[in-house]
Amino acid sequence: MNYIDFLKALDLRLKKYFDEHKSYICCKKFCSSCCEKGDYPLSNYELEYLMAGYKSLDNSLKILVQDNFKKMEEGGKCPFLLNGTCAVYSYRPIICRVHGLAYICPNGLAKLPYCANDGLNYSDVYSSGMLNCEPIKENLDTKFLLRNFTGVEIRNLYDWINL
Ligand code: SF4
Ligand code: SF4
Repeated sequence: MNYIDFLKALDLRLKKYFDEHKSYICCKKFCSSCCEKGDYPLSNYELEYLMAGYKSLDNSLKILVQDNFKKMEEGGKCPFLLNGTCAVYSYRPIICRVHGLAYICPNGLAKLPYCANDGLNYSDVYSSGMLNCEPIKENLDTKFLLRNFTGVEIRNLYDWINL
């Protein structure tokens, strides 16, 4: 399976998962704090697709993204965030697609979006480190999802652009 077919199948599963957990989720347009602080780990496959998204942008948007790249700090705002929205939404990495969901990890614990601590997703069912609902029963970690691809290399976005 190529990466684009893989993404189509993943997006279908994620749509189902977001529907299943819609009562715990409050993501909405212009809620962008998950794009303002983070490492954005992504693979070489995702980076290539993300840069295809960048190449598809109008020149005026490319200039804004380039400016953001120059100002990017490790752990800081994603350069593709423009006016509170993602400029490359259809091309975004896996972590941006799964972010917002609570899902099961191989150790049996749930991985939650950090905004659960900020009164956002799952905050009604999460307290004192305990999640009081069933997490999604699929490990949505990028490395695990890409396990059938060869030569996968994962780095933080900042590290990729500063190679
Ligand atoms: S995951 Fe959290 S911070 Fe990100 S859009 Fe959803 S509610 Fe907002
Ligand atoms: S690629 Fe888009 S969705 Fe992902 S962190 Fe950057 S702005 Fe947010």
